[in-house]
Amino acid sequence: MHRTGGIWLAAILAVILMGFLGYRVTHHVVKGPNQQYYQRTKTDRRGRIDRGIYTQSQLEKLTMITHGGRYGGNTSLDTAATQHVYQLNGHNLPNIVGPDGVLKLYTKSTFMTPEMVQDAATYWNKLAGKRIVVVVNQQYQSDEVIHDGQHDRHVLGGQTYNGQGIKFYPDNWQISALSAKNQKNWKEAALIHEIGHALGIPHLGGGLLGSNAANAGVSITDFMGPWAVGGTHTPIQNEYGVRSTAVDAAALALAGASWQKPQRLASWVLTSPTRGVTYNNGRITSTIP
Ligand SMILES: [Zn+2]
Repeated sequence: MHRTGGIWLAAILAVILMGFLGYRVTHHVVKGPNQQYYQRTKTDRRGRIDRGIYTQSQLEKLTMITHGGRYGGNTSLDTAATQHVYQLNGHNLPNIVGPDGVLKLYTKSTFMTPEMVQDAATYWNKLAGKRIVVVVNQQYQSDEVIHDGQHDRHVLGGQTYNGQGIKFYPDNWQISALSAKNQKNWKEAALIHEIGHALGIPHLGGGLLGSNAANAGVSITDFMGPWAVGGTHTPIQNEYGVRSTAVDAAALALAGASWQKPQRLASWVLTSPTRGVTYNNGRITSTIP
């Protein structure tokens, strides 16, 4: 009697456990892991430049642009032409674009409005010359999620690559003294910047890590560098909005050639490097064909 009861109890517990595991597995497969996490698509780190996208001389021209100077560009990208690798100081550069070649973003951020997120996607698509970033309406459809959090250091936002998506830290932004236009442009620059990391672009602030400008406390016009506005030492061009530079565009061209589905992006920069896209206070203008 005692023993039989024990067996029944074990059997009932086993059924409950199986049911629970079944629910978890179904939940995981149907809904996708981003019901709990902010990154659905696995970070890709192939670190190779597809040889079918650009000729050798075009690759050399792109890396000549991204090589930059003291406070612009990234000298690690030189190896895209010499060794056909896409690396930062010898380490493969990651992206979250996924196998379809379109970065799908979902936003839960209140710091960045839905309109600003859509504008950032439009900005990248104009720069690329094709649709590479879209905003989706359901979290499970996304490659990653934009959301807000807290950070105890003076960090404004970040691309995590580790399942936490794109995070912004509203409490760390001390920009209330700036004009409404400059506040909006700075936030949009940060949004465009973090999406750039998801596309596989490293920092473009000069040197082997693209970190010269940030280390020196210098702000620049390339949005993949430390872009800032409204200060006594910030570039005067930034007062007119977030204007893409040839360095930003050439870096996108190289990143696209490194994706799981390699793409020819922003190739206009090879012939017309002075063209660009500008975001200014909710308006996007472009001189790109
Ligand atoms: Zn960054």
